[in-house]
Amino acid sequence: MILILQEHVHAGTPAFVAIMEYLARRPGVSVRVQEIKGAQQTLTELYLIGDTATLDREEIADLPGVEQVVRVSREYRILGRHQDDFRPSGFEYNGVAFSQDSFELFPGLCAVDNREHVDRTFAALAAQGLRCARMGAYKPRTSPYAFQGHGAACLPFVFESAGRHGVRVIAMEITHEKHIQEINDALSAVGQPTGVMLQVGTRNTQNFELLKAIGRQQEFPVLLKRGFGISLEESLNAAEYLASEGNQRVVFCLRGVKSSLGDPHRNLVDFAHVPVVKRLTRMPVGVDPSHSVGRRDRGPDGIEDIHHAAAQGVIAGANLVLVDFHPAPAKALVDGPQALTLEELPLFVEDMQIAREAYLKRRAAHERARLPAQETALADTES
Ligand code: PEP
Ligand code: MN
Repeated sequence: MILILQEHVHAGTPAFVAIMEYLARRPGVSVRVQEIKGAQQTLTELYLIGDTATLDREEIADLPGVEQVVRVSREYRILGRHQDDFRPSGFEYNGVAFSQDSFELFPGLCAVDNREHVDRTFAALAAQGLRCARMGAYKPRTSPYAFQGHGAACLPFVFESAGRHGVRVIAMEITHEKHIQEINDALSAVGQPTGVMLQVGTRNTQNFELLKAIGRQQEFPVLLKRGFGISLEESLNAAEYLASEGNQRVVFCLRGVKSSLGDPHRNLVDFAHVPVVKRLTRMPVGVDPSHSVGRRDRGPDGIEDIHHAAAQGVIAGANLVLVDFHPAPAKALVDGPQALTLEELPLFVEDMQIAREAYLKRRAAHERARLPAQETALADTES
């Protein structure tokens, strides 16, 4: 059970103390307090665990200072979508809103190689009016001999260049908890010119200690990739790890699953799960067509598989697209074969806008079709 307290009720206020005393008298129930930082205000939520079936929901809802009581099912207690759950969802970070209704593109380098390529990429995004990007500094590589990313060394020029081009949020994978501090230090050293969304890669989706460390910090939101060899349920539980440690600002990103059944694509594209994740949880959902498809083949219609897969995700309601671009893919140190070029960015943006508009039109059409049915049902109950 989750108790959302009224906005003026925080730890230490008389109403808070009275609620905690009430709960302390219930045997077998323990309470975890969480401060949820929203764009305008900080809300306090109480997570009750243990023998909550014995609690009287009505009585608790009537306690002074309680705004709302949500009875959660066992799954995804914090990030899940539960019955009668009107908790606000989504978040704002560095001036950009993320929710199940928002839409942002995150094009950029799979791996930062040099300053010039970073600068040219950000300039191309700025020319399209984009304010989010992907940039890989810490790369988890299959071979220990492959380029591992420039790590902390590239952060100052990446952040400085992002700020100069008006990029507000960079999705950046981290592979170790010490990278959080490195990113924080680098941002402070150059005067916070941009923001970072910490990315958990598919190889680390079930690295529980990393998840807990990222969940414990409130500075940065998180983009969690679906694990490529585990069930959707297991990946959603990984997201819940972040929330259970205190960080609810989580975007869930589909990126295909490992299966030879996906051949000739790098992974089997799983974007039909966009609405599933939106239904089961309140997280914004992203798609990564680059790591799903992994190659630049074109259909007989002249459209590349990467564009098709991205559009499939967006037309199904994806809120974010993470996609590899590179000024000179042949020179890229990681994943060059799947990178689109900067000259192709305007077409990609246009294609995604077409898919987004199609999704909004589909949603409106389905809503219109539902309305008469609902009105008839209402008239029946009234008569
Ligand atoms: C990436 O986005 O750079 C990446 C390595 O993706 P994934 O973890 O999905 O393989
Ligand atoms: Mn990559």
